[in-house]
Amino acid sequence: MSNPHRQTRRQVLKTAIAGAAGLVLGAPVRQLAAAPAQSPDGASTVRLSDDLFVIRIPGEANIVAQTGSGGVVLVDGGSAGAYDALMKAVSALPGGGPVQTIFNTHWHPEQVGANEPLGKAGRTIIAHENTRLWLATDVTYPWNGQRFKRLAKVAQPNKTFYTTGQLASGVRYGYLPDAAHTDGDLYVYFPQQNVLAVGDAVSGQGWPAVDYITGGWIGGIVGGLQRLQTLANDDTRIVPAHGPVLGMADLKAQYQMYGTIYDRLTQLLNKGRGPSEAVAAQPTKEFDAQMGNPDEFVRRAFESLWGYLSPDA
Ligand SMILES: [Zn+2]
Repeated sequence: MSNPHRQTRRQVLKTAIAGAAGLVLGAPVRQLAAAPAQSPDGASTVRLSDDLFVIRIPGEANIVAQTGSGGVVLVDGGSAGAYDALMKAVSALPGGGPVQTIFNTHWHPEQVGANEPLGKAGRTIIAHENTRLWLATDVTYPWNGQRFKRLAKVAQPNKTFYTTGQLASGVRYGYLPDAAHTDGDLYVYFPQQNVLAVGDAVSGQGWPAVDYITGGWIGGIVGGLQRLQTLANDDTRIVPAHGPVLGMADLKAQYQMYGTIYDRLTQLLNKGRGPSEAVAAQPTKEFDAQMGNPDEFVRRAFESLWGYLSPDA
């Protein structure tokens, strides 16, 4: 667990090509055991164990909360506008109390909106060092012009790491170096509950956003899904930033699917095709009925190859 085998880019490629054979798709998403408890403001809580919960606030990414005598641990914190709803949901948890520690699974605003108030209160904000670097600089997306201002110093992660780490409670965390979503992705593993929080390194709902400006790429999606299978077992519950709680079968099915798509996109790249031609080639055709319109995903997944597979990359 502490040292997942490192995978080179070439291994990712080989694996992806091997993955194109033998498709296993449409594995059923693991259903939650109990219906979520709903509060008047629309927030709901999914109980994973006596002390571990997924907080869902409408329009927000999933937030994992662990209660305990040492305070609450959060994995991600929603956007800034959701902070009050989050604090309300946290204090309503059985055993809920003040938040002591928050993980940022990556730098996106829907993960780091609680950082400023928690940072001002002196709480611990844990992230990969690359995530801190992105939060300390301005970012602009070329595909839609969206701009993100750097966070105030007090809102930036105040405890960063490069490979792995562990809380005193035994909760383990580590870097996902494949860059499935950004180059700062982390996982948090709760060993007693066998729950693995993975942020946007896995999409539980629809096609993923490929943020290649901060390092994410389609090969990383494939590599990340492979790596996470080594961190989980058949009973692990996997909590993505979006969508329902997943299981090992979902990781395997997604690994096959994205491996196939990766293989097709690299073939198109090697033939000298461009992003619009990649979209026209329908490289996700047999998955679209289940996954939805793929055009934006395919375009950006194709563009993400430029940074990793062009001759000087
Ligand atoms: Zn994200």
